[in-house]
Amino acid sequence: MPKEQKLNQEVRVRMAPSPTGPFHIGSARTALFNYLFAKKFQGKFIIRIEDTDRTRSKVEWEESIQEALNWLRLDYDEGLEKGGHFGSYRQSERSEIYQKYTEKLLFSREAYYCFCTPAELEEHRNSQLAQGLAPIYSGKCRKLTKEQSAQKKEAGDQCVIRLKVTPQTVVVNDLLKGQIEYDVALFGDIVIAKSVDEPLYNLACVIDDFEMKITHVIRGEEHLTNTPKQFLIAKALGLDIPQYLHLPLILNQQRAKLSKRDPSVAAKVSDYIEQGYLPEAVVNFIAFLGWNPGDTREIFSLEELIQDFSVEKLQKSGAIFNVPKLDWFNGYYIRQMSLDKLTNLCVPYLVKAGLISPLWGKSEVIPLVYDSNFTVLGFENNKTKEKVSFNQLAKIISLYQERLKKLAEIGELVELFFEEVEYPKEILKWKKMEMAELPAVLDFLLKTLQEVNEKDWNKEKLESVLMPEAERLGDRGKLLWPLRVAVSGKMASAGPFEIAEVLGKEKTLQRIKKAQEVL
Ligand code: GLU
Repeated sequence: MPKEQKLNQEVRVRMAPSPTGPFHIGSARTALFNYLFAKKFQGKFIIRIEDTDRTRSKVEWEESIQEALNWLRLDYDEGLEKGGHFGSYRQSERSEIYQKYTEKLLFSREAYYCFCTPAELEEHRNSQLAQGLAPIYSGKCRKLTKEQSAQKKEAGDQCVIRLKVTPQTVVVNDLLKGQIEYDVALFGDIVIAKSVDEPLYNLACVIDDFEMKITHVIRGEEHLTNTPKQFLIAKALGLDIPQYLHLPLILNQQRAKLSKRDPSVAAKVSDYIEQGYLPEAVVNFIAFLGWNPGDTREIFSLEELIQDFSVEKLQKSGAIFNVPKLDWFNGYYIRQMSLDKLTNLCVPYLVKAGLISPLWGKSEVIPLVYDSNFTVLGFENNKTKEKVSFNQLAKIISLYQERLKKLAEIGELVELFFEEVEYPKEILKWKKMEMAELPAVLDFLLKTLQEVNEKDWNKEKLESVLMPEAERLGDRGKLLWPLRVAVSGKMASAGPFEIAEVLGKEKTLQRIKKAQEVL
């Protein structure tokens, strides 16, 4: 148990996303750490939708949160689509609760209506800046009596609600960063609501964390500036506060704070799905954005993370988002996978690349999210209209399982099996060879391979008939390179014998003839 945890109190943590855009990879990390913390302490993980910004909040973004959590397999206990005892878990449906608390603050005069216009505020701000002072609200409307405020409201004057902030030092005890002191005099009287039932984020967050019995708030360091404000609001309302734990900032490889628009890192979880990252790899990778096991182990399943997770092993300094490392994790999990599962997972990417269509109709949309109930019945090669069986696909994909980093790369790697190859004749030539040597080499390849019996057509047989000649030439590349380019159309591919085996005798011979034409 974390040391500040009160005895006998069930751990309750929450992630509180605002559905104002697609679910971000940084939010996925917050979700993971909340999930791990809850699991570690047999607590509850809650998803609360912070949609107080009504104009920017959209149902589709709420759906993207659920989709991302499903994909990452981060199951939660209450909120979002599950509901629970402390609902509604959507802030837009909790106005009555907020009203009760906001009225309490107004009644106790801890908060007051402020009628200052934007122009007035701007003028005050500029005059303070001109005097070299920090711009702080003047507190002008603090002096209004209840009657004066009521009159102004009646007259239709625009207003907001501000919290009275008494200059003091607020000490926040963060579970990771330790004690942090804030001089809150610098805040001035903060705006906490647009009206009694329209709280702003800080107020709604404090009320909800209290009402939902949240024991620990685990969120990104960018929220550290909100914490003293939430502390002041809770104090004014006489509410207990949760324990805070602010996860380190996520940095890009230049060590700058990662923004949603950073071109070097995909922001949306859906981008990771689209590029063909596996959820196991993403979970493993984001766990290391702020945590490590304290030894050299790197591979962790979700279950192993729950086992090994501890607050003591969280890091305070910024966590670098190292894309090559993520690719490494992904390659690792791809290699570990059964060929059947990998083939299943590659299918939607092959369809998207336009190479194959499912046999049961072209309009069928295959979801990019892996679904274990998905049954592959068979396919059609889009170009040749030939039937392609699941086993044929598996055989092709097996050639690339070792090197594949992201599923979306599969299309480009395997297109040579589905379409005619096109290449400039120059690439047929091995670097230590003359163009003039090529016709004889291609001739030899064609003649020798024609002799091989269809039923013996496999990698071992092809090797046994071609390797002696390759050796005899004194440089294997002189035979194997033109063969590789002829069968694959590429300078980098799987081995030429493997490709020839999968292509079959007829297609392999056709491709060698094509190389002769290209020359
Ligand atoms: N709605 C806030 C956000 O999406 C949540 C902050 C918090 O966890 O308190 O960043």
